Order: sequence, then structure tokens, then C-alpha cells
Amino acid sequence: MIVRSTSMAIFKSSEPAQNVLQDPEIQRLLAHPEHQGLELKHGRQVYTNRALKMDEITVVGFDMDYTLAVYSMRQIEELAFRMTLERLVGKRGYPEDLVSLHYDHEFVIRGLVVDKDCGNIFKMDRHNHVGRCYHGRKPLSLDERRKLYQTNEKIRLSLPRFAWIDTLFSLPEACLYAEIIEALEARGGKVDYHKLYDDTRESIDEIHRDGSLKTELKKDLARFIHPDPELAPALHKLRSGGKKLFVLTNSLWDYTDAVMSFLLDGRLPEYPSWRGYFDTVVVGAQKPAFFAEHRPFVEINADGTVAKPVAESLERGKIYEGGNLFDFERLTGHLGEHVLYVGDHIYGDIIRNRKSSQWRTCFVVQELEREIEYIDHNAGDVIRLNELDALRTRLDDMINHHKLLLNALDRKLERGGSKELEPRRQSEKQDLEKLRRAFKATLAEGSEVESRFERGANAYWGLVFKEGNENSRFGEQVEDYADLYTSRVSNLLYYSPMQVFRSPRATMPHERGTLRRG
Ligand code: IMP
Ligand code: MG
Repeated sequence: MIVRSTSMAIFKSSEPAQNVLQDPEIQRLLAHPEHQGLELKHGRQVYTNRALKMDEITVVGFDMDYTLAVYSMRQIEELAFRMTLERLVGKRGYPEDLVSLHYDHEFVIRGLVVDKDCGNIFKMDRHNHVGRCYHGRKPLSLDERRKLYQTNEKIRLSLPRFAWIDTLFSLPEACLYAEIIEALEARGGKVDYHKLYDDTRESIDEIHRDGSLKTELKKDLARFIHPDPELAPALHKLRSGGKKLFVLTNSLWDYTDAVMSFLLDGRLPEYPSWRGYFDTVVVGAQKPAFFAEHRPFVEINADGTVAKPVAESLERGKIYEGGNLFDFERLTGHLGEHVLYVGDHIYGDIIRNRKSSQWRTCFVVQELEREIEYIDHNAGDVIRLNELDALRTRLDDMINHHKLLLNALDRKLERGGSKELEPRRQSEKQDLEKLRRAFKATLAEGSEVESRFERGANAYWGLVFKEGNENSRFGEQVEDYADLYTSRVSNLLYYSPMQVFRSPRATMPHERGTLRRG
């Protein structure tokens, strides 16, 4: 008997597979409460887009900010918002009273797009169709959206007109942009939308680069970062499973050292210092350029000064800055698909990486945990929306069928058909009316349930991963580029270092019909 797995590996067994699976002993093991407990909370699971065998991974690399270091989103966003606003007012001549603006954490989510021509912010679905859209803080009507974005030309986000909010670090700038437009236009001012965006972007860039944001963060790391008690055990488990670990972060050495010490020093007796977990430490990596350009690695001293260029190898216990993918592989000997990189920046850590390397990727999406919990709590709404969707398709077909029947009867009667056809025509007409009413009812209930469901997730934008019935563009990028995705690094604690992450069997729309009927 030959059984094919989804990965097409072929297993031979002398026993028919069905007999094995129906064996009462196997059934007993599967039903055992201990194994039932293996079912992890949905929000803490690792999800698989592309199958990955952990025993083929020799080295696991981690980004730091928003990956190993889970920031308290509201706190850090609020701080970056305020500091950027002060720069805009203090250095770029924006009106002083803008400093009273408030940060609205709900108003910005990852995956939004800023339209610098029009001063709008919108969310897209996977077909690059513009869904919800705001000008300042005001929602645009369907007509306004159609006029602006449903032109013959497909929206290309690579144009300088658009900026993609692709990292959590960008949320404050999107909120600032909308708030300032709202405030300036409310007083009748005319806003140069491009300039405002550039000023905001440059100001936020400044507070990151000149160290002022990090100085504030370092004063009270406990306020801005959640130390995850399961992080150290998760890293230890990977090491015990024979993996080498590395850190590859854009942060510079002094900040990296401060954050990593806060996260990991002394958490486990075997590792008094965070450095003990990692075989290679690379700071100031300048991702995404790290994956595409040829900047050299330099070794640096603990005070951040340059020690020497690197020629031979990357050694445990040393600190490196800069570098590039090609030299990393050459100097460590860890190649392509044996490397798993875990990061939170959809472009810098995942997409750019995937385009240049064979590295496998795990995307950390902090928001996923809350989004999944929300969906689980409102599963009734999701089920109802699916039922209504199926019912609508069915009613649509039935309406078309009855329309054809009615047309045929009309034509027969027009051609002088027997008067006895009239009662049948009347009854067809009534049925058609009833079906139309039912169809409208599904639309009304669907839009009521959908808007309640989405508003509950986020009053302005709905779910991060969805836009209406479709995946959001962000959700689609995650599906296309991340091999794995999960809400935090410590979720790996619940998986074996030999785990085979299997993707669910892919289904196309025509197969889903079979599943529904089956
Ligand atoms: P990573 O996620 O560990 O690679 O580190 C991200 C680094 O990028 C942090 O040090 C951030 O302060 C920095 N960063 C985030 N946004 C900006 C920006 O707009 N300009 C400059 N640096 C940034
Ligand atoms: Mg990061």
C-alpha cells in the first residue's frame, strides 16, 4: 500500500492505511485528554503558509524590535507621536496649538496606505481595490472613493504618490498626518499634502536616528516593553534542539544591548547574560539593504567603536555591525533554506528577504493574537456571514431560473398560447417576488452583521487581515511571502525543534463547492 502525504513523500506500509487509522488503540491515543491538551489557544499558534521541517533548519535568526522585544503599542506610539509633533512645531514651523492633538491608537493599523496627492488614508483588498478611506478623520463616501480610485489605471503602490504603512513603527506618522489635515482644514487652511507627509516622515525619521526616541525609551524600558516570561525558555528550547541562534537588528549596539539585557539577562540560570543565547550578533544591519547590497561586516567594541573589518568568520561572543546576506552565509557557513529568520517588518524582514535569499521566514504579527481572539468570540457572526453568502448565491441562481421560466411563459402567452397558462404565470411571478424579497433580506442582514462584526474589531478599519469578504492586501502579502506567521516568538516554546509545520491543504473555489455539498 502506498500513502502519499501532501508533500508527495511516499510512505510504504504493509498494512492498509485505513485499518491502521481505525485501530481502536490509535483512536484511544488520539482521544486521550493529554493529547487534547496539545491544542494550543488559537492566538498562540504558529500558522503555516508553506510547509517547513524544523529538523532541516540549522540556524534561527531574530529581528529585535517588535519581534524579540514586544512593545506596548499604545505607549511607544503615543511617545513617537508626541515627539514628532513637537519637532514639526518646533523645527518646521507648524502652528503651536497643534501640540494639543491627541493620538488615536484605534485609527491606525498596519497595512494602510497614505495617498499623498489627496491627503487620504485607505485600506486595500488583495486586488488592490480601495476599501475604507479617510480624508483627515472624515470617511469618504462610496461615490467619492469611486471617483478617486476606480479609474482604469490600477493603483501602483510603488508610485511616489503612495506610502505603505508596513511596520508598526509607522503607525504614529499615519495618525499624525490625518490629525494635522483635520485640524488645519477645520480652520479653513489649505494643506500641501505632499509636504505635510514628507515633513512628518522626516521628523519621525529624525527622532529615530538622532537617538532622542531611544533615550526616552531607555529611561523606562519596563513601561514600553513587555518582558515575555516564555521568551527565554523558547530560545533555550531551540538551542537544546541543536539550533544555532542569531540576532540581526537594525538597532545600533547600545540600544540593542539595553533592550536585550532587559529582556533576557538572568531569566534562566544557564544564561546570566543575553549574549549566551546567541551565536552571532549583528546590529545596525540596515535591512532591507542587508538582503540586497554588499555592505561589509565590521566588528565593534562594547562601547560601539569600530574594532576591525571582518574577513574570515563571524565568531560567538563578538559584536558585528552592518554586513550583508552573502557574506553572512559565507562567514557562518549557514546557507539558504537551512536558515529560518523571524521578523516583524513585512517588507524589510520578510518580502525583501524572500526576494533575495532562500532563507525561510517566520513573520511575527503582534496584532494577530487579539484579532484571533476577537474572531473566536464572535464565531457566530462569521458562521452567519458564510451561511448568508451561500444562501445569496443560491437565491441568485433560483431568481435567474425563475426569470427564465417567466420569460418563456410570457412569450408563449404573447404568441397566443392557451389561457390556462395564466395561473401558472401568476404563481411563477409570485415565487419570483418572494425570492427577490429573500435575496434582499440576505443583503440587509449580511451588511448589518458584517458592519457590526468589523466595527467591533476596529471602528475605523475592521480586521487587519481582511477587507470585506476578501483578504486585505496586507493579509495577502503575509500569505504570499511568510512561510510561517505567529503572534510572538515565545509561541515556538509550544512546538518541537523537530516540528514539521504543515500548511493546510490548498483549496480552490471549485473544490470548496464540493466540500459544502459533501
Ligand atoms: P529591528 O526591527 O530590530 O530591525 O529594528 C528597527 C530599528 O529601526 C529600530 O532601532 C528603530 O528605532 C528603527 N526605525 C524604525 N523606524 C525608523 C525610521 O523611520 N527611521 C529610522 N529608523 C527607524
Ligand atoms: Mg523589527
